[in-house]
Amino acid sequence: MDCEQTIRQVYLYLDGELTTLRRWQITRHLNRCPPCHHGFDFELELRQVIATRCHDEVPPELKARIAQAIGLFEPDPPAERPRLVDGPDQA
Ligand SMILES: [Zn+2]
Repeated sequence: MDCEQTIRQVYLYLDGELTTLRRWQITRHLNRCPPCHHGFDFELELRQVIATRCHDEVPPELKARIAQAIGLFEPDPPAERPRLVDGPDQA
């Protein structure tokens, strides 16, 4: 494996989408190649930061804004409420 192959596969490695052999080949390259190893560390750290922030540290307002931005936010859930005003339904 050369550097370019390794870097390209590091993402798959991190996503757990590689066979044991591939993972071993990448690990071996990283252990021998400081520049690639540094890149891998950076990528790993970045993912950990993202994962941590996403799970623990997002304030509710920001979550709401994100949900709104991607179209999940429904401020007022439609219909399907029990009727409290009109009295009991008569079948
Ligand atoms: Zn390398």
